Amino acid sequence: MKRSDKASRRVDVVVIGGGHAGCEAAAAAARTGAKTLLLTLNAERIGEMSCNPAIGGLAKGQLVREIDALDGLMARAIDQAGIQFRVLNRSKGPAVHGPRAQADRRLYRRAMQDLVKGTPGLEVVEGEVIDLIIGDRSTCGGVVTVAGERIRAGAVVVTTGTFLGGIIHLGDQQWSAGRMGEVASTELSKAFRGVGLRVGRLKTGTPPRLDGRTICFDQLDVQHGDHPPIPFSFLTDQIRVPQVACHITATNENTHEVIRANLGRAPIYSGQIRGRGPRYCPSIEDKVVRFADRAAHQIFLEPEGLDDHTIYPNGISTSLPEDVQWQLVRSIRGLEGVEIIRPGYAIEYDFVDPRELRATLEVIRVPRLFLAGQINGTTGYEEAAGQGIVAGINAALVAGGGDGEFVLDRAEGYIGVMIDDLVSLGTEEPYRMFTSRAEFRLSFRSDNADQRLTPRGLAIGAVGRERSACFGAKVQALDAARTLLNGKKASPQMAGLAGIAVNHDGAIRTGFELLAYPGVGVAQLERLWPDLRSISSEIASQLECDGRYQGYVKRQASEIESLRKDLALELPDELDYAAIRGLSSEVRTKLQESRPATLASAARIPGITPAAITLLLGWVRRRAGSDGRAAGNASDRRFT
Ligand code: FAD
Repeated sequence: MKRSDKASRRVDVVVIGGGHAGCEAAAAAARTGAKTLLLTLNAERIGEMSCNPAIGGLAKGQLVREIDALDGLMARAIDQAGIQFRVLNRSKGPAVHGPRAQADRRLYRRAMQDLVKGTPGLEVVEGEVIDLIIGDRSTCGGVVTVAGERIRAGAVVVTTGTFLGGIIHLGDQQWSAGRMGEVASTELSKAFRGVGLRVGRLKTGTPPRLDGRTICFDQLDVQHGDHPPIPFSFLTDQIRVPQVACHITATNENTHEVIRANLGRAPIYSGQIRGRGPRYCPSIEDKVVRFADRAAHQIFLEPEGLDDHTIYPNGISTSLPEDVQWQLVRSIRGLEGVEIIRPGYAIEYDFVDPRELRATLEVIRVPRLFLAGQINGTTGYEEAAGQGIVAGINAALVAGGGDGEFVLDRAEGYIGVMIDDLVSLGTEEPYRMFTSRAEFRLSFRSDNADQRLTPRGLAIGAVGRERSACFGAKVQALDAARTLLNGKKASPQMAGLAGIAVNHDGAIRTGFELLAYPGVGVAQLERLWPDLRSISSEIASQLECDGRYQGYVKRQASEIESLRKDLALELPDELDYAAIRGLSSEVRTKLQESRPATLASAARIPGITPAAITLLLGWVRRRAGSDGRAAGNASDRRFT
């Protein structure tokens, strides 16, 4: 990593920002073969966790596994930095298991920096980008740094997080900053407005950091992680970082009284903050107002590192004045004598309306410019990283001059769902991922992310040799084990011998089919077929999940197939969109202007909602019906 010292240079891809989106974008572009330059304000803070020191969680954990399946960095970094691993929702089915890990902040940064540094074809330079080079037909051709250097590039990826026009709020104080202790990016923000993009304001917040040496932990409930910890990355065999416990406390009526008495001094209520915050991750003042009948709100006291006494109190993000924050925390059990190391605060920042983007994350009106992460209206490290990897691959493809593109659809995984939601619906509040956003969530398990996405990454050339070999070996082992299980046949009587209660219907069931029965695992089947012992425990547990979900997955597979066929339906050139009832005038105008050739291209037009696609599909099906074509599934018909 060095300071930018050349007057002018040319690379294939420039990535602006070394946060979660930027690291993934830069590494993905380099893996895809592009000579890549990552430009960031402070190289020491590459991989910084601006807020909570944790990776994963419900739906977010699945995102991390998908990023890993595409050979991204996040899972490998957390495996080297995780100090408490837990699978959330463990009591429910594997489809909604959410792997999560508490991180040692410093170890995470170091791991991410090592991974970035170790990526061939990727160079890191410190510097502030203040402008974009915009050439013919509004095409982005590079960036300008504050030192006056003009760096030419085949594509540019912007991942500036909360830094664009960032303003920190702490009580009635406010100042310009990208996050605490770092300058905001104001010039670049002007550049975005200059190219005519729709820019809005959002806000997010963080809690005060506490001195763990002043907390009475023995009064509190303790929460341990899983033993053994389960790694995030498909490439990690074992977690070697020491594991620690977290503690749990809660707010109480006194805390709520302190907050209510000071609401007039809270920037979110005094009118000082105008940007919208994350509805599902509200500040403590917001929780006390919105859930006035709740007597307590849980707080997880999470250590920020192995040799760091800083504690992150998860659940009390606040921008109340500092004196109120002291009263607030000291009203809480176990924290009566606590010292605050750094007060909480809120930050307001610019984001670009993601409907300005294609599903490749390229800006529609500025070709060769890509945006990823918080700048697109999302919140969270995992959401940022998921976009980063897609933007990085596409930037490399565009810079390489080919016409290939890398788009994940809603049926392939959470990354596809997120990007489709963003570019088609936009967002009015910080967007975070939930399992409920995905129609096909039963197919999106964290354990099968590699089988869903690694082949896509391999096909586009974005997966390195190590993962390719590892994945190949796993697929071979899975195929062999599945063949073995499918070759085993059991009558109901035989199944009974292994303690599996099936209907006495005389039907013969394969070993794989028996895995669909509640609680049945490969170990139980070994009673019938001892040679199944040759299956490793990793492969066995994957097959058990596949077996358990085989009925749902088969059903979803046919729904997905029919969705894809529907999307391939052709739309006639002369189609009169005004005749389709229920379409909003905005959608109608967009369709009229773009005249998409197929339903899939209609769905890719930013601002065209899934509801509009359903209306369009219904109309096409009805037209096909009234043209006297065969009834039944319209999906396999072409409309001319
Ligand atoms: P960041 O991680 O912010 O990285 C931005 C990068 O861009 C930095 O490396 C910066 O140096 C670089 N950069 C910026 N401008 C320039 C420039 N002009 N030139 C060169 N480099 C530049 N997420 C949650 O999920 N839950 C929360 O509760 C939550 N609270 C938060 C509270 C605060 C106070 C903050 C700041 C963030 C919070 N987040 C929260 C958001 C989380 O930090 C982000 O979602 C995530 O970091 C976004 O990743 P990113 O890669 O888009 O941007």
